[in-house]
Amino acid sequence: MGCYRRFILDLHFLNAVPNKEEKDAVDSCLKNLQLSWTVTPENNERVGETALPKKDPYYSRHLLLPVFHEINLRIGWISPGALNYACQLLKVAPAEAFGVADFYHFFSMKPRAPVMIRICDDLACMLKGAKDLCQNLEDILGPTNSFSCEKKLTWSKSPCLGFCEHAPAALISSAGRQPLEYSMGDITAKVVLDQINKRGSDSTIQSDSIPIRIPQQSQSDLRILGRIGKVNPKSIDDHINHGGGDALKKAIEVGSEQVIKEVIDSKLVGRGGAAFPAGIKWESVFRSSANGQRSYLVCNADESEPGTFKDRLIMEGDPFLLIESMTIAALATGCKQGYIYIRAEYPKATEHVINAIKESQNHGFLGKKILGQSLEFNIELRRGAGAYICGEETALFNSIEGYRGEPRNKPPFPTEAGLFGQPTLVNNVETLLNIPGIILEGGHQFASIGTAGSTGTKLFCLAGHVQNPGVYEVPFGVNLNEIIELAGGVSGSGRLQAVLLGGAAGTFLSKEELDIPLTFEATRKVGATLGSGAVTLFDDTVDLSAVLLRIADFFRDESCGQCVPCRIGTVRQQESLVRIFCDNSENPLDGEKHLLEEIGKVMSDASICGLGHTASNAIQSALNRWELPSRKNE
Ligand code: SF4
Repeated sequence: MGCYRRFILDLHFLNAVPNKEEKDAVDSCLKNLQLSWTVTPENNERVGETALPKKDPYYSRHLLLPVFHEINLRIGWISPGALNYACQLLKVAPAEAFGVADFYHFFSMKPRAPVMIRICDDLACMLKGAKDLCQNLEDILGPTNSFSCEKKLTWSKSPCLGFCEHAPAALISSAGRQPLEYSMGDITAKVVLDQINKRGSDSTIQSDSIPIRIPQQSQSDLRILGRIGKVNPKSIDDHINHGGGDALKKAIEVGSEQVIKEVIDSKLVGRGGAAFPAGIKWESVFRSSANGQRSYLVCNADESEPGTFKDRLIMEGDPFLLIESMTIAALATGCKQGYIYIRAEYPKATEHVINAIKESQNHGFLGKKILGQSLEFNIELRRGAGAYICGEETALFNSIEGYRGEPRNKPPFPTEAGLFGQPTLVNNVETLLNIPGIILEGGHQFASIGTAGSTGTKLFCLAGHVQNPGVYEVPFGVNLNEIIELAGGVSGSGRLQAVLLGGAAGTFLSKEELDIPLTFEATRKVGATLGSGAVTLFDDTVDLSAVLLRIADFFRDESCGQCVPCRIGTVRQQESLVRIFCDNSENPLDGEKHLLEEIGKVMSDASICGLGHTASNAIQSALNRWELPSRKNE
């Protein structure tokens, strides 16, 4: 019989009495969250907008995630006193809350140094020296996540932070009464440590360290990126001066059915990877709302696919247009409450979106009387906490609701039973940004751009060995060669070895395949995917085996573990690659390749969600295109 160990976590919270700091953290967070929530002090009951009945024990559970963020930022970790206090107020069992907090990379369940440096060691940063950077930090600060009472700093490696155009990148979180969070790009160990010393706890210079860069700024025909860099992202007046509000006014004027017709006519499909027709979802939620059901709108701003950073750019550079796009979608489909779920790695985008929500409320663009009419819609922001899987829409619902971010089985689909079990329209940031143009110009005009099967323009994130990394907007149909030329061509050695299209869940293409048109139909035909629009270039000096191992590590780490094919498959996939590339295993290489194919097939056929379905895509595509390298020690 095999030997195994059981790890039992014995949780006791009865004696976990909160100190003043812990109470302040929880109380101030709940107070700040009252965008659409009010607390009646007599019975401590919260009255809000969810579909849950007030007597439901989980009625206020959806506030867990923001409360955990505040505790983590103020105390530095999810301390038992703060956790216990939050559980009492939110009426959640401590053991359950512990299980939720423990799910997310960003929350520490044990004491740690107040300043945390997260260094991205994912693909784009790996190509720009992240390995040496991590070694330098280890020499100075010791091993990752080390903790001692005297130390103020600790560091860890991180999956993609979404700053690939500024690789290598870091995210700094400094816990305390005035917490700080900011991103840094093009860094060395010295630059990071100097910056931390310089900033101290000065919250006035928070999150402004990386400038917004639009390589196509001089082009006048950009539809989505056109205002970024020109409009002040913090000023609603400037938003209005640049045409903000025009699409919303027209949408109100023509009414819901006409708006939905324009979206259907535009043939707009989701830009997050699944490419589902937006109009079908809108129509379905509209029907549910018309039947009296409470519906929700969710903006998925949790772009976590390695190599993807376009939604970050939009939220940093044009947040008011995102709010306007959401408002049009909500009014057309009858949703009165919306959520923006943004990844925790984006402090500046978060700050700009929060400001845009507040300003829009103050100026009558959100609230109970939008533009002075009897139209109601409001938005709350929810921050993810470092879990790739929460980009999957049903995992995202669970995360907002205060559960572990584990995907649900589908059907039912979100348009039938999504957030809080209600019909829910989910669109990502880029998809929504297409809406104002569709309303102003008409769906047919939009559909005339691109190709018959892929209409409009698409944002691509160029990173890795490319001269001018950044976000590029092109009409569908441009080929890979052209977009690489647009970004200045190949950097590094100047000789291209491979392109990874669609991020870690995407497909490797060789330099002979660069004439593939970037459309949903053309990429599907060759077994590839546009995915989220990530285009990562590798010159011919790159050891692709290290890249494949990084991708396998990523999926092994990010699998939520809920279903067997993915939980076991991602681990076995990584082990097999280690044997192929690093080990002196006796297993024949052909056998390993066959095993990897089998694992990939099982994950793709039998997993619950897209993570498992695509976890072997990039690895299989590389193994199909290139000879397996000999083992290092053969
Ligand atoms: Fe979780 Fe993977 Fe299963 Fe998705 S496929 S539910 S990530 S274990």
